[in-house]
Amino acid sequence: MDKRVNNTQLVHADRLLNRPQHGAVHEATNNSVLFEFDDAADLEAVFQGKKPGHVYSRSSSSSAVSLQNMLNLIEGGVGAVVFATGMAGISSMIYSLLHAGDHVIVSQYLFGNTRSFFETLAHFSIAVSYVDVTSADAVKKAITPSTKMVFCESIANPVTQVSDLDGIGKLCDEHKLLFAIDNTMTPSPMLDAKALKASLVVTSLTKYIGGHGNVLGGVVVDLGNFNWQNYSHIADKYKVDDVAQWGLTQLRKRGLRDMGATLAPGSAHQIAIGLETLNLRMQQICQNAMALALFFEEHNAIKHVFYPGLVTHPQHQRAGQLFGHQFGGILSIELVDNIDMRAFLNALNVIICATHLGDTRTLALPVATTIFYENGPQQRAIMGISDSLIRISVGIEHVSDLTDDITQALNALINGSGKFERAKQCT
Ligand SMILES: *Cc1c(COP(=O)(O)O)cnc(C)c1O
Repeated sequence: MDKRVNNTQLVHADRLLNRPQHGAVHEATNNSVLFEFDDAADLEAVFQGKKPGHVYSRSSSSSAVSLQNMLNLIEGGVGAVVFATGMAGISSMIYSLLHAGDHVIVSQYLFGNTRSFFETLAHFSIAVSYVDVTSADAVKKAITPSTKMVFCESIANPVTQVSDLDGIGKLCDEHKLLFAIDNTMTPSPMLDAKALKASLVVTSLTKYIGGHGNVLGGVVVDLGNFNWQNYSHIADKYKVDDVAQWGLTQLRKRGLRDMGATLAPGSAHQIAIGLETLNLRMQQICQNAMALALFFEEHNAIKHVFYPGLVTHPQHQRAGQLFGHQFGGILSIELVDNIDMRAFLNALNVIICATHLGDTRTLALPVATTIFYENGPQQRAIMGISDSLIRISVGIEHVSDLTDDITQALNALINGSGKFERAKQCT
């Protein structure tokens, strides 16, 4: 975990990279939509990409650029573009880099909204294959002559399948395919996406990086591994200067400028504050999650625990190698059959019943009836999501307060005979 950007670099990044005016340690939140030029020729040069600068804040602002510099630093990339949300980052990346007639291979375990977005692509004549990305062989079998990209998440949610990122990276490199990783679950430095030959990494900044449930954002970072000269879809007008920037230039123009899901300057500032404590929070979160997973594994009220840190997890070893022996902050549980899942959730006091993840607070959510409700029973079965599954996004609380809360909630469901209450009829 400490092989890349450390806490010293994180807390000083804004000051050192962005050099804010007046000796400020934060880049100011600059809300100006327009930018004045003394010389019209300079305005023209910035418009034409011949000089750096800002002309209109939908396309760029100093607040967004400062955050981009910091996010690019932590990934070791060649540049970054921030967006209003994680979904805006994903959809802008796909719409600006793929064309009708293309084929894309994606994980069959995708985050629900991302899955729904890829289903929308069918209406734009982009073919999508949903594949078991825990196996690079399965990805290889799905490649066709029109395949342009492989897209997967590092750790899927809620069942925590770990993608074969190493195998898929090599495969994409060999076949000159774009390889995009959604690393929201394992933000840098947990995952070194660049070393795994990923072309692009996309992150929801709303989750661990913002970290406090008070700001939305997304980012796409180009890791410099993909040779854009081999890509047929870069428009001639975006093939300017350094080849390494072609992909991001097209993403910035088509994805950000034309589609318009711009990150607000105030949000950029809030996310930058979150970034300062990312490592600290991630360490505490991973430690708490491991402790909770072991607690659940031992507990007779729990039928199944899904967490990559457990030796019984099918991709435990791979997760250890990929994530520097940290295993993330998401775990899921199934209670034994005679405990009512909703009664358990309702009896929790410290742990909050809410959707969202990556927060400082521990959150619990019934999955099948909420975030994966739209997917229907068949897709849920393929993803390994049972009707009684509860997802837990582990926070930074003192861990015994979490285990005490779970214990009191389960005890409250035990009836006079010492047995757990029979499940109420689930509808
Ligand atoms: C939340 C999430 C997203 C979407 O991010 P938003 O900022 O909520 O739009 C994308 N991918 C994963 C894995 C997520 O958890």
